Amino acid sequence: LLTIEGLWKNYHGHNVLRGIDLTVEAHEVVCLIGASGSGKSTLLRCVNLLETADDGTIHLDGEEITDVRADADGVRKRMGIVFQAFNLFPHMTVLDNITLAPRKVHKVGREQAEAQARDLLARFGLAAKAGSYPDQLSGGQQQRAAIIRAMATQPRLMLLDEVTSALDPELVTEVLGVIRELKEGGMTMILTTHEMGFCREIADTVCFLDGGVLLERGTPEQIFSNPGRPRTREFLQSVI
Ligand code: ATP
Ligand code: MG
Repeated sequence: LLTIEGLWKNYHGHNVLRGIDLTVEAHEVVCLIGASGSGKSTLLRCVNLLETADDGTIHLDGEEITDVRADADGVRKRMGIVFQAFNLFPHMTVLDNITLAPRKVHKVGREQAEAQARDLLARFGLAAKAGSYPDQLSGGQQQRAAIIRAMATQPRLMLLDEVTSALDPELVTEVLGVIRELKEGGMTMILTTHEMGFCREIADTVCFLDGGVLLERGTPEQIFSNPGRPRTREFLQSVI
């Protein structure tokens, strides 16, 4: 579904990504781990074309999205992205937040968009909050609503960047539940997390980034139980 080849990104002469190669199959859940500053968010931002790579290519469904002639808005329509900080629009209800992109970007009619939004809210346990404003929701509920909003456009791929790290521990569980549900629904995802237990449980493939290099990848079992590289072992010892 997604193929990244030889991806380089530098900021002000500092190489943040150094030749990343990564393939993501349909329905695969890829978890990026690595120290702060290792390039995880930058990689997600490059995939979503929020950043322009300096070298290398990214293909989505066989189309080169890094091609300068590619339609970036069209590409972004096929992906959902959710960040650490809640990014709901504060002046809009949950329902309006969720239906905004389907209506304005994908030109879905209001009734259909609202029906789909209510289905998603029900599926993720937020049906009662459709008419609430973001500040009337808990942090966990806001983040669930943000994930639902990204799902509302039926993306091919979801990119989730530390979606639980701004939450109190008791709220983390409910957001992780939503991600688990997405996986069960067959959604293809690339996510970054500092929750190693969750990574181990949800990932099909774990990728360890170190200084912008994809140093090691494998199944959770391989990476967590028997990492091949000393750097991976050191990192895991420092966080677990
Ligand atoms: P964290 O775990 O803290 O979220 P990360 O692995 O997501 O870290 P990135 O945010 O990708 O790391 O950052 C990688 C490096 O790129 C860091 O050294 C960071 O300072 C630098 N960087 C990221 N964005 C920019 C930017 N817009 N301008 C300049 N430097 C940047
Ligand atoms: Mg980051």
